[in-house]
Amino acid sequence: SSAARPSAGPKSVAAFQRASALMPGGVNSPARAFGAVGGTPLFIERAEGPYLYDIDGNRYIDYIGSWGPMILGHAHPEVISAITEAAAKGTSYGAPTEAESRLAEQIIEAVPSIEKVRLVNSGTEATMSALRVARGATGRKKVIKFAGNYHGHVDSLLVAAGSAAATLGAPDSPGVTPGAAEDTLVLSYNDVPGLQNAFDQHGDDIAALILEPVVGNMGCVLPTMEFLNAARDLTSKHGSILIFDEVMTGFRVAYGGAQERFGVTPDMTTLGKIVGGGMPLGAYGGRAEIMNQVLPAGKVFQAGTLSGNPVAVAAGSATLRLLKENPPYEQLERLADRLADGLDRAATSAGMAHTVAKAGAMLTLFFNPEPVDCWDVADRCDREAFGRYFWGLINEGIYMPCSQFEALFFSQQHTEAMIDETIGAAEKVLKSL
Ligand code: PMP
Repeated sequence: SSAARPSAGPKSVAAFQRASALMPGGVNSPARAFGAVGGTPLFIERAEGPYLYDIDGNRYIDYIGSWGPMILGHAHPEVISAITEAAAKGTSYGAPTEAESRLAEQIIEAVPSIEKVRLVNSGTEATMSALRVARGATGRKKVIKFAGNYHGHVDSLLVAAGSAAATLGAPDSPGVTPGAAEDTLVLSYNDVPGLQNAFDQHGDDIAALILEPVVGNMGCVLPTMEFLNAARDLTSKHGSILIFDEVMTGFRVAYGGAQERFGVTPDMTTLGKIVGGGMPLGAYGGRAEIMNQVLPAGKVFQAGTLSGNPVAVAAGSATLRLLKENPPYEQLERLADRLADGLDRAATSAGMAHTVAKAGAMLTLFFNPEPVDCWDVADRCDREAFGRYFWGLINEGIYMPCSQFEALFFSQQHTEAMIDETIGAAEKVLKSL
């Protein structure tokens, strides 16, 4: 029937009930719980190519892609065989392997600003470690971050509240002490005078500036070139370390990430998601002189029992090899243009106030007529309409991010026909709002 399903199917509802008694909110990571749109999350049975299948037997065109990693599509046969071959040789040794050097070479070749790299287990670990190294290398305390940028659940970075002025941050989460956040300066994204002002006031105390070089975590928000150049110039001038958090953008907005796309070179880079090919793996790296501060080459402590895990490394290495051999980036760019144009037309014909932003295969339809360039603007989106849009699309077999403030991702397995089907569904849903 065409009656909108108010929520997930009955098996997902039952599964969520069971999970909710066992895990906080029924999930192992909060965004999955559909908190921003209400209702029950879909429980997934399997995924293949561009599709997700839930336990109620519904198929969806997937625009989350595990929140970024699945750029080759789900269950890519060559990635799966790399994983199974590695797993058959044992899943962890806690000792060095040649495969780690191979992945390190692939990363360094893709991202030339990385001269040395360390593999970790998540994006959070990558940013946490990069900050420690930056502070260790400079002997300074303060870190600049931008409101609406997410860098994982690192205590000192769980601070998003702030204004254009350089304010000392107050933590966002219970359990983060004011002390953990007191050296974090929160600024507004794309605000060049604000950045200049922060360096005028605190320049000699600033260890690092960390940013998402295309933001995915307040919806897709693009940097201006003036902003990126100011970040580069001011950090250089003041001896601070510029960290690009490319956990989302790395191997997505270009093979070499946003730094390749925009031609701005950071001192350090953090990676996650695609670099692990859908397995738990992150990485941080940068100039050799900085990375040589890390134990045992230097004195900054950072370690991991499962770091460089052979199964995760196999998945990441196969993924990067496939992306390098057969770059999907032009195709992804064309599909992104098609989707952006289509969603724009659909929203216009539905009389819906909106803007669309995109960079490569990441994209957001904002329920807000203003161009979104920072958190204060993003915050004015119509969240309630977004929630109805989300559930309307689920009903049409389209699995979009369940928050206005998450970019959508697609893969090289998505086709023009699927993009057109998505636009058609969006048109129908937007008209019904
Ligand atoms: N940095 C960015 C830019 C991210 O988008 C994320 C996760 N969405 C992280 C860091 C944290 O990565 P993880 O969830 O793997 O810890």
